[in-house]
Amino acid sequence: METMMPSSREAALATVARMPNPLGHFIAGESVAAGGQPFDVLEPATGGVIGQAFDASPDEVDAAVAAARDAFPSWAALSGEKRKALLHRVANMIEARADEIAGVECLDAGQAWRFMSKAAVRGAENFRFFADRAPAARDGQSLPSSDHLNVTTRHPIGPVAVITPWNTPFMLSTWKIAPALAAGCTVVHKPAEWSPYSARLLVEIAHEAGLPAGVFNAVNGLGETTGRRLTEHPDIKAIAFVGESKTGSAIMRQGADTLKRVHFELGGKNPVVVFADADLERALDAAVFMIYSLNGQRCTSSSRLLVEQSIHDQFVARLEERVKQLKVGDPFDPATEVGPLIHPRHLEKVQSYMAVARDDGATIAVGGERHGESGYFFQPTLFTQGRQHMRIAQEEIFGPVLTVIPFDGEADAVAKANDVAYGLAAYLWSGDGGRALRVANALNAGMVWVNSDNVRHLPTPFGGTKASGIGRDGGDWSFDFYMETKNIALAYGTHNVPRLGVA
Ligand code: NAD
Repeated sequence: METMMPSSREAALATVARMPNPLGHFIAGESVAAGGQPFDVLEPATGGVIGQAFDASPDEVDAAVAAARDAFPSWAALSGEKRKALLHRVANMIEARADEIAGVECLDAGQAWRFMSKAAVRGAENFRFFADRAPAARDGQSLPSSDHLNVTTRHPIGPVAVITPWNTPFMLSTWKIAPALAAGCTVVHKPAEWSPYSARLLVEIAHEAGLPAGVFNAVNGLGETTGRRLTEHPDIKAIAFVGESKTGSAIMRQGADTLKRVHFELGGKNPVVVFADADLERALDAAVFMIYSLNGQRCTSSSRLLVEQSIHDQFVARLEERVKQLKVGDPFDPATEVGPLIHPRHLEKVQSYMAVARDDGATIAVGGERHGESGYFFQPTLFTQGRQHMRIAQEEIFGPVLTVIPFDGEADAVAKANDVAYGLAAYLWSGDGGRALRVANALNAGMVWVNSDNVRHLPTPFGGTKASGIGRDGGDWSFDFYMETKNIALAYGTHNVPRLGVA
């Protein structure tokens, strides 16, 4: 496939038009589609049908798993240096086609160009980061005892399933697939049914870059059918899943009979805590960015704003101004800050929280309605007068919707921040170093940013506590998931071996 630049809706439609329609699967290096039912893929900005994709038949899922199983021994045995070289080639090709990939994300995920152009490049960075670590992935420790030299090594666990959501489909997929491949695992990827196209680009790119057939396979389909069969399959040794908390529970049940290892990155209701002594200008910028970017469809979005009582009115007044000025529109327009929601079902869910907010006694200070006549746009929305018990303070809405809750002092801030089922990320703003440390320590979340928006650094651990997940991504944490650790105990011949059955 040739590189297409610059991206536009027409260019993205042309990219999709070159794919099979209905879009099938990519198994053992081949484009496949024979069995399952087709379903429509919608364009969030218009509500029109972009094309169709196939829900994989059970035989197709089994064929993808068989391809990954057959390719595993030789991929696992390939030297880390060779895997590194191949994965750098994948990264090069992603970079060369970053505009095209970003355009497809704008088209079928409805995400704004200003964010997607960076997300595609970050996908390449994920491949580079783990490619560079592939040669040392098996390294272990030397743990001598008096009678043995213990040496640990790591081995890839086997074929793995990677199941991803629709919010930033390409970037999130690379985050899982790159370390799995670098570790020596083979992969069957199932992208979200609402945004399947960029996953197809990724698997094609990997194949063109020279990954052997069967090392990386992709199947399309619905969660309840394709996803379920994949997670129940005995030859899949681990499941890396990103999505909703309740889906995580279902996958855990589905994988129980075959004792699957699971890695879950799930939902969030992340607080941004703003103390009166903070740099309020930067705190305001970060609070707006962290909920309204990516249309609020972001696991680490700061969907709860906890503001210290003494600055509450002044801070919220400035916030209202900013939310009113957000530019909602065409995802392909570089000026657009907020695009459409992914799907009519998701729009309905986000919209339903307006009545919930009113019934619970909150104020809809900004927004609260659909935006425009066509597509699934929703106005950037601000709930004020929020209280801890309200559903809008507890549940993940996953749209451009922010709930403001006042707090009074450090202890109240921590208590409110922690009083939710989730524990993915937390953001805190304070000019007092001691307070920042105390609060960061007390927050129950997998990641805490102090005086910062979410800035990802790949060597650091990414993941959540409570209903937000199990396990960590990033750095060596990723390899720990995709690999088994083995201890080899070598005797010096000095210890007594117990002698039984001796006359
Ligand atoms: P979802 O759970 O509905 O779907 C995610 C994926 O799981 C899809 O591919 C879907 O087809 C599949 N799936 C659904 N049911 C399944 C089943 N029974 N068995 C196997 N697979 C199944 O999530 P979504 O609506 O696509 O994404 C939004 C959610 O993802 C939000 O909750 C968000 O917070 C979360 N998310 C978390 C992170 C993170 O890093 N923690 C990142 C992005 C998104």
